Order: sequence, then structure tokens, then C-alpha cells
Amino acid sequence: MLDIDKLSLNIPDTTKPRVVIIGGGFGGINVAQRLKGKDFQVVMLDRQNYHGFWPLLYQVATAGLEPDSIAEPLRKMFGSDKFDDFHFRLVKVNSVNPIAKTVHTLVGDLSYDYLVIATGTKTNYFGNEEVKKNAFPLKQVPHALNLRSHLFQCFEQASMTADPELQQSLLNFVIVGGGPTGVETAGALAEMRKHILPTDYPGVDFSRMNIFLVEGMDRVLPPMSPESSKKTLKYLQDMGIIVKLNALVEGYDGYVATIKGGEKIQTQTLVWAAGVQGALIEGLPAEAVERGRIHVNRYNQVLGFDNIFAIGDIAFMKTDKWPKGHPGVAQPAIQQGKLLSKNLKRLIKGEEMEEFEYVDKGSLAIIGRNQAVADLPGNIHLGGFFAWMTWLFVHVMALVGFRNKLVVLSNWVYRFFTYENGTRLIIRPFVRKGDKARRDFVNKYDME
Ligand SMILES: Cc1cc2nc3c(=O)[nH]c(=O)nc-3n(C[C@H](O)[C@H](O)[C@H](O)COP(=O)(O)OP(=O)(O)OC[C@H]3O[C@@H](n4cnc5c(N)ncnc54)[C@H](O)[C@@H]3O)c2cc1C
Repeated sequence: MLDIDKLSLNIPDTTKPRVVIIGGGFGGINVAQRLKGKDFQVVMLDRQNYHGFWPLLYQVATAGLEPDSIAEPLRKMFGSDKFDDFHFRLVKVNSVNPIAKTVHTLVGDLSYDYLVIATGTKTNYFGNEEVKKNAFPLKQVPHALNLRSHLFQCFEQASMTADPELQQSLLNFVIVGGGPTGVETAGALAEMRKHILPTDYPGVDFSRMNIFLVEGMDRVLPPMSPESSKKTLKYLQDMGIIVKLNALVEGYDGYVATIKGGEKIQTQTLVWAAGVQGALIEGLPAEAVERGRIHVNRYNQVLGFDNIFAIGDIAFMKTDKWPKGHPGVAQPAIQQGKLLSKNLKRLIKGEEMEEFEYVDKGSLAIIGRNQAVADLPGNIHLGGFFAWMTWLFVHVMALVGFRNKLVVLSNWVYRFFTYENGTRLIIRPFVRKGDKARRDFVNKYDME
């Protein structure tokens, strides 16, 4: 038996300033990587032992990529061959005590000189408990694997029933949220319907498979330009995806999705990609939290504290150019992480810190084969093949780890020529969604 009382964080004492980083996402790794040297002891705490490349998570869910190729072990990134006095611990941080300057975890407390909160976001169900209980979120690797298994269970079961109503509900897929994750997931499902499923399941009539993309606003990809939204809508419709705009999902009991106004869709699969909220940690005063995120100044210092910083998705930094804060994408997290490492070095030397200024490098979304949209700096909007090539290039280059770049690239080249999605595997205990077993699975992995 594992006696948890015998575990502790076990971090060596130090005379150097200790920087504790909560979260090894885009923000966290970019601070840590640049603190290499003799000035600090760096401790990274994360509830998962890898850095996840979330922009490709939907490809894991739709059998396009293995999970290993979008994740990089944090200990590998910061091994003792690369980094002195770096310590990783696999724990969830439960709370912070800014007065005592400690963080609290299940296996004990740890003091810090500087604290960096880079915890990102979690799924936002907007208080709808029924949806939370029955929908499939897409935010973490276990979510993607769970969804992948579920999708193929639906196809297996659709091939084993002569009941038209049941078969239809197994072949109706509702994706809520017309942002990049929703659009990309819908597109990947449509590609699978066209190229793979009819040969895998010859007894099933896939002309009956419906993919609904439900968006509450009046256009898909609301954070992108109207031009890109328009192009994307056309691409989606050409692929046979049923796009419902100005439509809000009000309920989902595991079998029927109800859209505001009364429309009902029988479905065994509702993917919830409709929103996120800050993954807050208890202990900060209420004034430090705004719009569900941590209010920071231009140096990423949490309001009211000199030695606590928040970066990335969890940080709310209001500027003239970004009055609602920066977009919840990877670039602000990366750029804030890089600048914070420089500012920490300046701080210990008593020098002035530099203010953060976000450099918007544009945004991209992929819809399907040869179809993507790109909004680039200078008001340039690309669509179709060029945008698709740009998307592939940017994503391969941004992946962490040479092995991951190689595996993803070779997977894509293979798929381009063969139309194959290689990982059509059901790997999980055989549970149907919406039931207690699935709930237990979610709770066990603390996946909310
Ligand atoms: C499905 C999906 C698709 C996306 N697609 C794109 C895209 O195409 N382009 C783009 O630019 N952005 C995309 N994003 C957004 C992008 O991934 C985020 O903006 C980015 O990850 C933010 O970085 P971060 O460091 O703030 O948080 P994250 O990268 O999310 O990292 C947070 C880390 O904190 C850890 N953590 C959280 N709470 C705790 C705790 N209490 N204790 C210990 N550890 C904790 C988590 O395990 C995680 O490792 C996507 C996000 C998702 C979920």
C-alpha cells in the first residue's frame, strides 16, 4: 500500500532565490527554459508529467495522431544534462498562501521567493450541470483518448443494430462551439466519414451520419476575421457539416441535445468545445481575480504582490490595445513566459523590469484536407491550400521535441497519400458515456 503521509515534495534547500512555477504549459516552459544558469533554483509543479501541445489535441480525438506525439515529458525537457538545480514534481497545487509565501499540495507545502502561476484554463460549462455530466470535453489528453474510443464504439454499435432510431442517434455527432477546436473536430470527422468509415464499416450507410456544429454567435471562428469566418462556413458546408449559428445548447441528457428554442437532436455524442475558464488556485484575494482570471499588471505581477506572477491563459492583463485581455492562445503565454524570465533576472539585480507588449503573429485554423484559413499581420487573409500549408508548417515547427516534429510530419505525409487515420483504436474500459462508469473515470483523473 502507498502511504501518502510518507511522501513529500523533497526539494533540496537552497541559498539561491527559489522560483516555483505552477504549470508546465506554454507559459511555464518558456519561463523555466530561460532561467537556466546559476542564479535561481527552479521548481516546476504540474499535475501531469508532460507539456501538452493542445492545438493538435483534436487529431488525437479523431484518430489522426498518437497522444505521445503531441506531448513532451517535462523531465526530459529539463533533465540534469540540460539544467542545473531544476526540480520537477508531479503534484496538483491546491492553494497558495501569499503571506507565508508557500504553495500547498497533497504531499506538503513549499516555500517560494518568486511564484509563477501558469495554470491555463479548464472547461467552462457555464453552470450547466447536465451538460457537464454528459458531454465530452476536449481539453486534455485523457479527454481526447476517451472521445476517440467513444466515437469508434458508436460506429461499432451502429453496425450492430437494425433499429433506425438507435442507429441515427449513434450516427449523429453534435459539436458545440464554433471556435478552432469545434471547427477542426467537425472537419476531421467529415474527412473520416468520406475516406475511412465506409470501408471500415461496409454495412453502415454513412450518408446518414450527421455532423452538427452548433455556435452561439452569428459566425464560426468568432476570434478570427469576418473574411475567414465566411470562408470557413463555406468550407464546412461544402464538407456536409450542418452548421447552426446563433444557436445555444441548453441541455444534454446523454441522448438528446436541446437547443434554445426547442429543437432537439437525438445523439449519443455531444462534444463540448464551447468555452474555457481560468484554472484558478485558491488563496489569492478576491480583488486579484477578474473575469475568472488573475489580474496582472504589465510585468505580469499579480495585483497587490511583487513576487507573484501569472502568465498565459490564466492572466488577465488589460491594456489600451487589449481592453478585454489577450486572446487565449499559445502566443501570449509564450511571449509572457520569455519576458518574465528576463524580468526575474532583472529583479534580482535590482534593475527595472520591462513592460509586456503582445506581438500578434496572426491566427490559423484548419478545416480539412487542403482547406484552412489564416489571418496574418498586415490584414492578410489566406484561405485554401496556401493557408493549409501555412497551418501545417507552423504547427510542426511549434511542436516541442524533435521526435514529435518527425512523428507528426511523417504521420501527415502518410495520411496525405493514403487517406488513413491510423489510430482507430478503442482503448478504454468498455463504458458507454453519460453513465456512472464514465463519471468515475472523469473524477479519477481529475479531468474537469
Ligand atoms: C483543444 C485546444 C486547442 C487549442 N488550439 C489552439 C491553437 O490552434 N492555437 C493556439 O495558439 N492556441 C490554441 N489553444 C490554446 C492554447 O493551447 C493555450 O492558449 C495555451 O496552452 C496557454 O498556455 P498556458 O501555459 O497558459 O496553459 P497550458 O498550456 O494549458 O498549461 C497549463 C498547465 O498547468 C497545469 N496545471 C493546471 N492547474 C494546475 C494545478 N492546480 N497544479 C498543478 N498544475 C496545474 C496543467 O496540467 C498544464 O500543464 C488550444 C487549446 C485547447 C485546449
